[in-house]
Amino acid sequence: MNRSRWEEKALQVAVCKAIRDVPDFPKPGIVFKDITPVLSDPSLFSGVLDWMGNMPGEVDVVVGVESRGFLFASGLVDRLGARFVPARKAGKLPWRTVGASYDLEYGRAELEIHEDAIRPGDRVLLVDDLIATGGTASAAVQLVEGLGGLVIGATFLIELSFLSGAAQLTAPTRALVQY
Ligand code: AMP
Repeated sequence: MNRSRWEEKALQVAVCKAIRDVPDFPKPGIVFKDITPVLSDPSLFSGVLDWMGNMPGEVDVVVGVESRGFLFASGLVDRLGARFVPARKAGKLPWRTVGASYDLEYGRAELEIHEDAIRPGDRVLLVDDLIATGGTASAAVQLVEGLGGLVIGATFLIELSFLSGAAQLTAPTRALVQY
């Protein structure tokens, strides 16, 4: 195993150990992946951001999905020299927006983005903490593409692979840990 692969493996093990499973939150039957222990460990959080930002090609914009996606996106824009754009739940953004609705693992919601946040041809990296069914990420892709942006990748800390969310996305999708 080469050095960078070994480092990725070590990071995966450390992240898995840190993530806390919270059964029946926010609804019975959902096992919530609590990532706050990852965020509160400076070297682990920084390692995750380095892993997420290690991708080929120029990135103009990092779109972070409310709310935990913001935490990763704000660390990534610094590493990638990119603009940060928030994708927020309906009614939260102050300027003119475009929206897309989607199904969640636990409910239904709508995501919005400012209509001037993406410029035609922008190369966009999409970031969130977790991909489950892929509904949220697909809605964000729809918003970016609707404004003329090109989603060149989607990156997550966690993938619930049994829900096949990555199959919803055409852009290359990476997740550091899979369940
Ligand atoms: P989905 O649209 O089904 O891919 O759901 C992804 C979004 O819902 C992300 O923004 C996650 O933060 C959140 N989410 C869904 N399932 C979970 C879970 N089991 N634990 C933590 N967050 C979750």
